[in-house]
Order: sequence, then structure tokens, then C-alpha cells
Amino acid sequence: MSQKNRNAMLWLLLVFCLAFIGLGWQFSVRSENYALREAEKQAINVLLAQRAVHSYVSDMQRTEIYRLQGEGKLPADYFSPQLMSRTYIARQIMERLNGERRLRGLAPFYFKLASGNPRNPINLADAYELRVLRQFNAGQRGDFREVVEQDGEKWLYLAVPVQANSANCMKCHGQPDQAPADLLRLYGDTAGFNERLGETRALISIRVSMSEILAEGRDQSRVLMLITGLGMTAVYLLILGFMRRLDLKHRIIQQQNVELERLAVTDPLTGLLNRLGFLSALESRVREAIRYGTPLALAMVDIDHFKNINDQHGHSVGDAVLKSFSDLLLGKLRGADVICRWGGEEFLILLPHQDASGGAASAENLRLALQQTRFAPVDRLTASFGVAAYHPGEALQDWIARTDQALYAAKDAGRNRVSVAPPPRAAG
Ligand code: GH3
Ligand code: MG
Ligand code: MG
Repeated sequence: MSQKNRNAMLWLLLVFCLAFIGLGWQFSVRSENYALREAEKQAINVLLAQRAVHSYVSDMQRTEIYRLQGEGKLPADYFSPQLMSRTYIARQIMERLNGERRLRGLAPFYFKLASGNPRNPINLADAYELRVLRQFNAGQRGDFREVVEQDGEKWLYLAVPVQANSANCMKCHGQPDQAPADLLRLYGDTAGFNERLGETRALISIRVSMSEILAEGRDQSRVLMLITGLGMTAVYLLILGFMRRLDLKHRIIQQQNVELERLAVTDPLTGLLNRLGFLSALESRVREAIRYGTPLALAMVDIDHFKNINDQHGHSVGDAVLKSFSDLLLGKLRGADVICRWGGEEFLILLPHQDASGGAASAENLRLALQQTRFAPVDRLTASFGVAAYHPGEALQDWIARTDQALYAAKDAGRNRVSVAPPPRAAG
């Protein structure tokens, strides 16, 4: 895979990892919030149950007992916590409710009508509840909610103040000498008295375990994270596979382009440059020569009587001779020289750093080498050469034409020779 695509995939991996971590964090926040909401619902249910008990005792039981007392069917100072104490009754009902919950394997609720001055010591507020009670008496409005950690578990703590002391409350919580005789008989005259009118005497203290709900939420989060993780991995692998295929195709296209570019400037029979490739090389070499003021020469080679070879041995032998001929030329050239198949059995050679006489000498060397070589099955093979030196300011086509004319001159003069072109007319 290309470095660019590899980097893109690494960035994508980073983005996916961050998204996964972000999602994990979101799931955990949401499951915590869910646990909090669920615990709140449970705590509110406990509170509502207590309120229902409270109003039933006030509206039904106590009213009935007062009626019976009014009719003289019950003594005027009759008091029974089982029938008349809202605190006692609510605690009893909650204990039974927790018993039922335990039977079903559910965590019990913590429920207490907590007071700093309780009649029954069982309702004595602990330090935490006392602090909350003080906050209510200091004017805190609304319910008190807090997530607390206790015994390695998370709990939602909900506290609601009981109604502030009214004149009615003062019957049992005011001065002991005004309290019902049965009440004094049961609890004595020391605890739960001397309350002040308008003060909050107690609070309803509820604690609901969040552990079970949190564990449930975490289980769901884990499943969601697993699904998300698998989904993201699948998407990433899909993109990776797609990128790899794209990359492979891109590489094949690049290789094909390189090959096409090579073919566009190559002669298929000899493997030499064709006209197109040669002309672009020629342009850059001429620019270089002009810049550095170095000479340049062109040599055009044409095989003598090549038609006869085709006629005598066939076209394929002609092809093979052309290939051997071009190989020989190539082998004899210097590294900086550039050769091309100009067409048919004609070759054009660029000779850098050579003036007309240098070019002619190089051409003569080639001519002699060709003459001494046997291109089987041909008996004798010679070639004619036209040489022209470059003159600054001369158009490339004109320079090539002068080289061609020199070649014609060599042919006219009897072939198998080197002819040097005179300078262009303008150059003198
Ligand atoms: P001259 O000495 O005047 O150059 O004579 P010549 O026969 O070489 O020149 P002419 O232009 O009359 O013929 C060139 C021949 O080269 C004609 C053509 O069939 C042959 N030829 C050109 N290209 C190819 C090629 O690719 N393969 C083969 N086998 N022959 C080719
Ligand atoms: Mg020829
Ligand atoms: Mg020719």
C-alpha cells in the first residue's frame, strides 16, 4: 500500500479508536445516569408508599379511634403505636416489604423516619442523617439527594423532611405533662418531647442500592460495546480491503503508464528511440549545448541498397539485419551519444561535444566497423553517412535537413562514405 494510503488508514484507525473510546465513555455515563434514574424511581416509590401509610393512619385509623374515644367506646387517653403511630406503622410495613424482597432475592430498601429526638431509640438519626436534618432546619428547600458509597456499594440516598411541627404534633411531642397517658406509659416522659413549633422534627431517610442496576447497565454496555467494536472492525477491514484493491489497481495503472510512455518513444523492431523520443532528447541536448557553448553534431546513417536484401533474402531476414545493424551501432557509440531509428533503414545519431570534423571522424569509425562486420546471410553490407554540426540559432528541422542532404551527397558520391554538410547559408 502507498505511504499516503497507509497514513490515511492509520489516521482512520486512530479516529475509530477514539470514537470507540468515546462511545465506551458515553455508554458508561448513560448507564450511570440510567442507574440513578432507576434508583430514584425506586426511592420515590418507597416514599409514596410511606405517604400512603401516613395518610391512611391519619385519615382513617386515627379518625376512627378519636370517634370511638368520643363515643366513650375507648378510653380518652387510649394510645396504641400499632394503631396510631405513623412512624411505627410505616417502619413495620417497610420491614415486611423488605422481608418479601429478600425472599425474592431483591436488595432490601433502607427506610427510616430519622429524628434527633426520637421517641423510640430505633429511629435515632445517625451522623449523616443529623447533618441533613440540620440542613432542612437551616432552610434547605426540596428533597435531598446524594449518591453515597458505603460497604463498597453505591447507594442513592433520598431524604425528605416530615411536615414541620404543627399544633397537632405538639400533643405528643410538646410537654410530657400534656401527652396521652398511654404514650407516657409506653415510652416514658423523657424521649421525643420538648419539640418546638415550626421546626422539622424528622426526615424520611431512604437508601436504595444502585449496584444491581449498575451491573445490569454495565452488562448492556458491554454487549453494545462488543457489537459496536465488531461493527467498527468490520467497517475498517472493509475500507482497508477497498483501499488495498484501489492501491493495487493504481499501481498497475502506473506500471502500464510507464510502459506506454516507453512504448510511445521506442521503435519496436530495434528497441532504439523512435523519432518522437529522439526529438525530445535532441531539444534538451541543444538547450544544454547553447547554455554551455559546447559543439553538437548529427550523423544520419542509411544502409546501402537495403532493398536488395529484402528482395534476395526476404523481409524477415531484412528485419534481423536491421536489428543486428542497430545493435552494432549502439555498441560502438559513447555513453552520451543518442541514437534513434529515423525510419526504414535510416538511423540518426546525436554526437554531443563534437563539431563537424569530430562528427565526421566518429561516422567514419562507424562506417569502417560496419564494413568489417558480416551480417549473415548477407555477404556485404555498407552504409552511407551524412554529418552536420549544429549552428546556434538554427532550427532543429533545418539542421536535420542539412544532415539528410549530406547523406544524399554521400549516396550520390557512390555510397559507403561519410559526407559533411556545409554550414547553413545564413551562418556563412
Ligand atoms: P539506397 O542505397 O539508395 O538507400 O538503396 P535502398 O534500397 O537502401 O533504398 P530504398 O529507399 O530504395 O529502399 C529501402 C528499403 O528498406 C525499402 C523497404 O522495403 C526497406 N525497409 C524499410 N523498413 C523496413 C523494415 O522495417 N524491415 C525490412 N525488412 N525492410 C524495410
Ligand atoms: Mg538505403
Ligand atoms: Mg533509406
